[in-house]
Amino acid sequence: MKHVTGLRCVICGKVYQPDELLYVCPDHGNEGILDVEYDYAAIRAEIGEHLPAASGGMFGYRPFLPVAEHVPAPPLVVGGTPLQEAPHLAQAAGVAELWLKDDGRNPTASLKDRASAVAIMKAQELGAEIVTTASTGNAAAALAGLAASVGQKTVIFVPKSAPAAKIAQLLVYGATVLLVEGTYDDAFDLCLAATEKFGWYCRNTGYNPYMAEGKKTVTFELYAQLRQQRTAVASPITHLFVSVGDGCIISGVYKGVRDLVAAGYLAQMPKIVGVQAAGSAYLHDAWANDEDVLTKPPIAANTVADSISAGLPRDRIKAVTAVRQTSGAFITVTDAQILAAIPTLAQGSGVFAEPASAATYAGFLKAAQTGLIGPDARVALILTGNGLKDVQSAMKSVGQAVTVPADITAVERVFNKTLA
Ligand SMILES: *Cc1c(COP(=O)(O)O)cnc(C)c1O
Ligand SMILES: [Zn+2]
Repeated sequence: MKHVTGLRCVICGKVYQPDELLYVCPDHGNEGILDVEYDYAAIRAEIGEHLPAASGGMFGYRPFLPVAEHVPAPPLVVGGTPLQEAPHLAQAAGVAELWLKDDGRNPTASLKDRASAVAIMKAQELGAEIVTTASTGNAAAALAGLAASVGQKTVIFVPKSAPAAKIAQLLVYGATVLLVEGTYDDAFDLCLAATEKFGWYCRNTGYNPYMAEGKKTVTFELYAQLRQQRTAVASPITHLFVSVGDGCIISGVYKGVRDLVAAGYLAQMPKIVGVQAAGSAYLHDAWANDEDVLTKPPIAANTVADSISAGLPRDRIKAVTAVRQTSGAFITVTDAQILAAIPTLAQGSGVFAEPASAATYAGFLKAAQTGLIGPDARVALILTGNGLKDVQSAMKSVGQAVTVPADITAVERVFNKTLA
């Protein structure tokens, strides 16, 4: 917290001190999302010449985080996820380099752990009895897991339709779970109402100003790892791809890039490409048609990729800014493309991604096919969630396994047939 200089409203630009308010700009209600500002010279002085290695996890970047000095990081270790090069997939798509940042390897199996770790520390700083969130599933699982590691109580609002694995995580971690008969957007509003009524601490995405701050650590790790792992002479990465629902992750990724530039750890910004499901393409459409996201009405979201299903993206102002300011793009992919991308990505790299995460790879493929990126592109994909989160969707895009009696002649018959 010691390097935070203020919280700036993304609508009016007014700057608040962190102890003045908890969530949004009072003059602009739920749309008045706040952007956390820092003294970058002081951060640089504390960290030194090189960005810390990613192996230390997200709290290796603590001078860049808005958390109080006296609150310890939660014991459940978040971040430090692997970065792997995917040369076969790069070649198949016709780009110069492809890197996969596998954030499904976090403790609750999604990138949301990075935000929830910060939420838990803020709750401890405030002495909150209960922390609450609305979620399509992963943010809630992350909050419940991090909360369990410090003995914090949580109340979670998720749509009743959330995948079973995500609901199981919540219950196993001991959260009080409310399955909302409605959409994620309904759950979000219900959670805000409960926050107001009961005085709980609210982690909601695109409302709590500190969530993008946790998520930005994926960018810090990515650049630290690229510096370590890239053997080719370092022309910078040209494109970062990430899937987008509420727009908080893409905002966090962009914030990470801005922080690195401001503190002198990065010379050139990559173009940021946001991938949306065609059935939940609010931000893509707003960007493509130059619509004002403050007045554009909600859409009816419908996609197999539950984690990026959002009718009214809560972090829409920052998300559009991330793409515009980096001369990036939004791109849409169909559910069929998303499902097909799950085995293609897995078989080309070993990474098993849930639909919302495979969407990023599907978007990358489409960008390569349509010429949005060319043969000189050096690309990194932020893979946000683990495939084990939603095996039902994954099974839709693979063939049946062969059932055999426990008899070697049956096995022989199978291979004679398939190899003949
Ligand atoms: C939450 C999530 C996203 C999208 O993040 P937003 O901040 O909602 O845009 C993408 N993939 C996975 C796996 C997620 O859990
Ligand atoms: Zn304001």
